[in-house]
Amino acid sequence: VGSGLFGAISARELTDKGYKCLVIDKRNHIGGNCYSEEIENIHVCKYGGHIFHTNKKSIWDYVNKFTPFTQYHHFVRVSYKNKIYSFPINLMTLQQLWGTKTPEEAFNKLESVRVQIDSPQNLEEWILSQVGQEIYETFVKGYTKKQWGKDPKDLPKFIIKRLPIRSTYENGYFSDRYQGFPENGYTDMFDNLLKGIEVQLNVDYFKNKEKYNKLSKNIIYTGKIDEYYDYQYGELEYRTLIHKNKIVDGDYQGCATINYSEEDVPYTRIIEHKHFQPHKAKNNKKSYVMYEYSKPCGKNDIPFYPINDKNNNKRYNSYKKLAAKDKHIIFGGRLAEYKYYDMHQVVGAALKKVKSL
Ligand code: FAD
Repeated sequence: VGSGLFGAISARELTDKGYKCLVIDKRNHIGGNCYSEEIENIHVCKYGGHIFHTNKKSIWDYVNKFTPFTQYHHFVRVSYKNKIYSFPINLMTLQQLWGTKTPEEAFNKLESVRVQIDSPQNLEEWILSQVGQEIYETFVKGYTKKQWGKDPKDLPKFIIKRLPIRSTYENGYFSDRYQGFPENGYTDMFDNLLKGIEVQLNVDYFKNKEKYNKLSKNIIYTGKIDEYYDYQYGELEYRTLIHKNKIVDGDYQGCATINYSEEDVPYTRIIEHKHFQPHKAKNNKKSYVMYEYSKPCGKNDIPFYPINDKNNNKRYNSYKKLAAKDKHIIFGGRLAEYKYYDMHQVVGAALKKVKSL
């Protein structure tokens, strides 16, 4: 159930082991949240920009078997009060903020702005104690409020485990060894993963449960775990995104991603998809621009980000106990495991699971 990364990889591997697989998806396309469409000669990730990154050669080699990746190295800029900053915070960011140049100057200044809080109780206090008021306001406060819909004062400090401050001018978003964007878009990778496997689209498992349960003794389920158990312990919460898109002439913002960290700006980021393929971008006279707005996930929205706070995790653990008894169902992927998984982690988890069968 589900033709996203977990479902598609499981189906591929099991088919290659000699099993007969059927993949169903309630959407009208394969690929789940990684799905891309070609628009104006640009591979647009329809649910938001996706960059593949991993340190594991085996995972990188695996995805490259199904589609060629270009060597795109992701970087992000932050817009705050009409200024653009380098991000994640590095020596260039601190230069832009304070005019410091060397690691020593920057870290002396950082030391002097930290707020003395002996035992920080919430996210705001924790960040203030690490990096001081200005960095907190510029990069964390407004952005976190928009992204999670809560004031950092009301969030536990573990939401941002670490605010990395790099002691170099390196400004790549990920530090992984292998990074890229598929030359022909993500959907090409899914077409190849699912080659020769029966796929039925526009089919909701829950509307046809009896029929599909009769077809197979074993089911790999990658939908929401709370939905599978009819929300008997209550709903697991998610955040979702609203996208507002436009096609424009020329180059809109000069890079793939700019985060907007001011609270008054309603969107969290703008993605300009052609910049995920810089070698093609400069020759394209059109551009596809996506504004992202974060909001709580309602019943009819697509769940994107699990809210792994204490209550939700407790609820998830109750569902997990039920799942452990249902031996013929394998629960995998972001929704079934209620876990913020990046793509490389889903690839790893699916391959491990299938190997154990
Ligand atoms: P999904 O892609 O959600 O697939 C689940 C599938 O199951 C869906 O197609 C759904 O329609 C189907 N389904 C659910 N219920 C039913 C049902 N009842 N009947 C039939 N079908 C059903 N990762 C990165 O590594 N790099 C990034 O830059 C990155 N950016 C991201 C940006 C956004 C906006 C989002 C939301 C995610 C991003 N990710 C990124 C994470 C990445 O999308 C996930 O790791 C990956 O897509 C998870 O795959 P999955 O198979 O677990 O889930």
